[in-house]
Amino acid sequence: MNYDLSSQFEIKSGIHGIGVFATKDIKKGEIIFTMEGKTVNHPTRTSVQIDAKLHIEDKIAGRINHSCTPNAKVDRKTKSFISLKDIKIGDEITFDYNQNEDTLASPFICHCCHRLITGKKQLQENKNSTDILSGLHH
Ligand SMILES: [Zn+2]
Repeated sequence: MNYDLSSQFEIKSGIHGIGVFATKDIKKGEIIFTMEGKTVNHPTRTSVQIDAKLHIEDKIAGRINHSCTPNAKVDRKTKSFISLKDIKIGDEITFDYNQNEDTLASPFICHCCHRLITGKKQLQENKNSTDILSGLHH
């Protein structure tokens, strides 16, 4: 299946540079689109993780920006983006990179919380080291 980008999505300047915007209303729980493209075994700046060591390069997904309060998520089984809430025409489509990606190829500072977004592996490591540190205090 090929996507006609001009009819399904609009790609323009978003919260972190170029982003993907809805050109139709999308109901909560709908499949927004299914990713297609080559898969690689390491993350790149534009890949989306779909398995422990599998990352897909999709033209649309590669341009979807991160948000800590996203309106979409990745369903790895179907390689699809699913809406987490009703999305209206003109809304930017976002997902939480920290929820889906183990390690980001290029970590960045989040526009909303000003935290460094690195992927969930790093988050877990940080959490573990915090646990160890708080353990030492007792
Ligand atoms: Zn944030």
